Amino acid sequence: MKIGKKVGTPSSITFVSSAYALLLMLLVFMSNCIDTATKAPGPFVYTTSYVNCTGCGDCVEPCPEKAIKIIETQHVIRASIDADKCVGCGECFFHCEFNAIERKLKEE
Ligand code: SF4
Ligand code: SF4
Repeated sequence: MKIGKKVGTPSSITFVSSAYALLLMLLVFMSNCIDTATKAPGPFVYTTSYVNCTGCGDCVEPCPEKAIKIIETQHVIRASIDADKCVGCGECFFHCEFNAIERKLKEE
């Protein structure tokens, strides 16, 4: 006689745990890859895209505040914007030919 439905097996629990752990690792990884230039005056916030940035350095010199550095994170070389120095002028945005500087309206 069948009493109840079996709801979980050790292998399915392991799979869910592994998927959850992978998701957490991905979130931590991505949080290390995106800058937050929240102190910049003006309507926009500038950040660098982990995906598009080639680390070419073409945005470094045009930045009047010397707010951009080329760094290595997770074995990837890319540009990083110092949120404390950025004044939101947009020079980096217009100089990057890889669309790797992201410009977003500040949230109110
Ligand atoms: S943000 Fe653009 S210009 Fe700056 S290093 Fe990355 S790809 Fe080069
Ligand atoms: S917005 Fe202006 S100050 Fe900010 S990182 Fe880009 S070039 Fe530098």
